[in-house]
Amino acid sequence: SSWWGNVEPAAKDPILGVTEAFLADPRPNKVNVGVGAYRDDNGKPVVLECVREAERRIAGNLNMEYLPMGGSAKMVEETLKLAYGENSDLIKDKRIAAIQALSGTGACRIFADFQKRFCPDSQIYIPVPTWANHHNIWRDAHVPQRTFHYYHPESKGLDFASMMDDIKNAPNGSFFMLHACAHNPTGVDPSEEQWREISYQFKVKGHFPFFDMAYQGFASGDPEKDAKSIRIFLEDGHLIGCAQSYAKNMGLYGQRVGCLSVVCEDEMQAVAVKSQLQQLARPMYSNPPIHGALIVSTILGDPDLKKLWLKEVKVMADRIIGMRTALRENLEKLGSSLSWEHITNQIGMFCYSGLTPEQVDRLTDEFHIYMTRNGRISMAGVTTGNVGYLANAIHEVTK
Ligand code: PLP
Repeated sequence: SSWWGNVEPAAKDPILGVTEAFLADPRPNKVNVGVGAYRDDNGKPVVLECVREAERRIAGNLNMEYLPMGGSAKMVEETLKLAYGENSDLIKDKRIAAIQALSGTGACRIFADFQKRFCPDSQIYIPVPTWANHHNIWRDAHVPQRTFHYYHPESKGLDFASMMDDIKNAPNGSFFMLHACAHNPTGVDPSEEQWREISYQFKVKGHFPFFDMAYQGFASGDPEKDAKSIRIFLEDGHLIGCAQSYAKNMGLYGQRVGCLSVVCEDEMQAVAVKSQLQQLARPMYSNPPIHGALIVSTILGDPDLKKLWLKEVKVMADRIIGMRTALRENLEKLGSSLSWEHITNQIGMFCYSGLTPEQVDRLTDEFHIYMTRNGRISMAGVTTGNVGYLANAIHEVTK
C-alpha cells in the first residue's frame, strides 16, 4: 500500500472556499462579499500610494541578506509605537519582548506555542464567534480551548452581561483572546466604558489578555483611536500580549508582515522572553521575510509617508462606513420590515448580517452573491455599483 493511503482530503477552509466558488462562477453580475480584503469602489484590490512610494525608495537598495531571527528591529520599533503609543514608558523601559511575525496569523501562532511551552497546563478562552482560524491556531499549538460569550444574536450587538459572567467564572489566571478592535466576524466591539469594566475584572481575576489586533485603523479610520482597548488595559497595569498585522491597514496581505509582543515585568525578563520567542521561530521558518518589513519601516520612519498612510487608512475606513449607510438605506427604501440598524452600528470590515445559512445559500444560488454561511458580509466588497443589487437580493431572501 502507498505511504499516504490513509490521508483523507482536508475540510475546505470556510473563507477561502468562498473565493474559489466565486471565481468559478461565470456570471458577470456576481458579487464577492466573502473575503476579508479591501477593495476600492470599483471592486479592485488596492495598493496604497505610501506603499508604492516606499517600494520606489527601496528598489535597487535592498540587499537580500537574512534578517535577524527577531526580524527588522526598525519595523518592530515603529510597530510597537502604534499599539502601545508613541511615548509609551513600556517601550522606553524596554519592557516589551517583540519579534517580527508572519503577519497576524504568525504572531498568534508563535504566542500560542509560547503559551504552551511555558504555561503547559493553561487554556485559552476564545469569543463566540471568532475568526475561524483562531481555533486552528490554538488547536495546533495543543492549547485546550474554552469559549466565552460575546455576540448577542437578537440585538446583533455585544452580550456584555454574559461576557462578564464568563470572565468572572473562568479560573483565576486564565488566558483570554480578545479582538482589540473591529471584531471579526461580528463587527461588534465593546464601548470604552465596557473595556474599562473588562479590564478591571481581568485585574480582579488575574487573567492574561492576549490582543489580536488585525484591523488597527479599520474601525474608526484612526489607528490611535483603535488602540484604545489596549491602552485602557495598559493604564490598568496589565501585562498583555499582542498580535499586530499590516495585512489590512497597509494592504500588505501577501507580504506577511506583522509583530508579536509580550509585555514583561522588566527589561531582563523581556530579553529572556524575546529570546524564547525567537527560539520558537527558528525551527519553523528561521527568520521572517525582509521586503514587507522594509516597506513598513520606510513608511513609518518617514513623517511624510506616515502622514500619507494615515490619510489612506482613513479613506479605506470611510469608504466602508459609507457603504454601511448605503446598504442600510437601500434596504429601508425597499420597505424591508426588518431592522437593519446593526449594519451601521457594527464597525470594521465586516457586517454580521443575521442572515441564516439557508438565506446565504439562496443569495449564492439565485443572485450569485458569495459570502460565508454564517451571514458575514465583507463590507469591503460592497461598492456604489453593487450595493443596490445586494440590498435587493437580501430583501428578497428575508421577506
Ligand atoms: N486575526 C483576525 C481577527 C483576522 O481577521 C485576521 C485576518 O483575517 C488575522 C488575524 C490574520 O491576518 P494576517 O495573518 O493576514 O495578518
